[in-house]
Amino acid sequence: MGKASRDKRDIYYRKAKEEGWRARSAFKLLQIDEEFNIFEGVKRVVDLCAAPGSWSQVLSRKLYLPAKLSPDSKDIDLPLIVAIDLQPMAPIEGVIQVQGDITNARTAEVVIRHFDGCKADLVVCDGAPDVTGLHDMDEFVQSQLILAGLTIVTHILKRGGKFIAKIFRGKDTSLLYCQLKLFFTEVTFAKPKSSRNSSIEAFAVCENYSPPEGFNEKDLHRLLEKIGSPSGADDLDCSSGWLEGPNKVYIPFLACGDLSGYDSDRSYPLPKVADGSYQSLDPVQPPIAPPYKRALEMKKASSHGVRGLENLSLDP
Ligand code: SAM
Repeated sequence: MGKASRDKRDIYYRKAKEEGWRARSAFKLLQIDEEFNIFEGVKRVVDLCAAPGSWSQVLSRKLYLPAKLSPDSKDIDLPLIVAIDLQPMAPIEGVIQVQGDITNARTAEVVIRHFDGCKADLVVCDGAPDVTGLHDMDEFVQSQLILAGLTIVTHILKRGGKFIAKIFRGKDTSLLYCQLKLFFTEVTFAKPKSSRNSSIEAFAVCENYSPPEGFNEKDLHRLLEKIGSPSGADDLDCSSGWLEGPNKVYIPFLACGDLSGYDSDRSYPLPKVADGSYQSLDPVQPPIAPPYKRALEMKKASSHGVRGLENLSLDP
C-alpha cells in the first residue's frame, strides 16, 4: 500500500507523522492517559518493549521536557525514563535506552540497576511478538511478555504504582485478569479508540500496586502457576472457585479516548492543500536496524554477482 493511500485509510498513521510521533501507537498511550490519568505525579518510569519509541516520546514530552523547561528545573530531580527493547532505538531526549530481551533475567537486572535502589511510579509494556495469526499461539507468547513485565514490576514498582500492559484478548483473558488482580487493587482492560476493533489487542491498566502480604519476588512464578491450576483456585481473591460457569470472572472493560474522535477502523478523506494535491509525509524516524535490512543487503549483493554474497551469511 502506498504512503498516501495508507494516510487515507489510517487516520492515526497520518496524524502520527503530522505530530512527529514515530508510530501511531503513541495515541494509544495518550488515550489511556486521558481516561486513567496515568502520568499524575510520575517521576520514574520504565518503558518495556519500547522500539521504535513512540511511547518513550510520549513519556519524554509529558514528563521529562516539561520538568526540564520549568523555571525551577535546576532544583528538582528530572524524571527518570528507562526504555528497553530487543531492537536498537534512535535517541530520544531524556530517555535512557537499554537493548535487551525483557524475558532475560540479566536484562531485568540492568533496568533495575538504573533505578539505583529507588522505585518506579509507572511501568508500561507495549510488547508484542511477531504475530503468527494463530490466535492461541499469539496470545500465549504475548502472555509470556506480560509475565516478564510483571517480574520486572515486582522488583521495581513502588506500592501504589501503575502498570500498563498490552494484552491479546482470548480464552485465557480471565486467568490473566486474576493473576494481575493479585498484585493490583484495580485492574481494567481498556481499548483505546486508536486501536482497531478488528485487532484482538487491548491494554491492562493495573492501578495501586499492592503485592500479597509476605510476597517474595522469587515466588512469583510459583504463585501464578498455583492460580493457573483448579486446585489453587481457592487462593483467588477475585473468584470463589474456578473461572468457568457461575464462577466466571467479569472483567471491567472500557473504551478510552475521546469517543467522538477519530475511528481507527474508518477511512478519512485526505486534507486538500492549496494546489489540490496531497503530499504524504515521510516517516518521523525510519527504522535504524529493521529485520529486513539483511535481506536487502543480500539482494543487492546478489545483483552484483556471486562474489558479493561470499561475506554474507543468514546466521545472526
Ligand atoms: N511502544 C512502541 C512504540 O510506541 O514505538 C511499539 C512497540 S512494538 C508494538 C513491540 C516491540 O516489542 C518491538 O519493538 C519488539 O522488538 C519488542 N519486543 C518483543 N519481544 C521483546 C522482548 N522479549 N524483549 C524486548 N522487547 C521485545
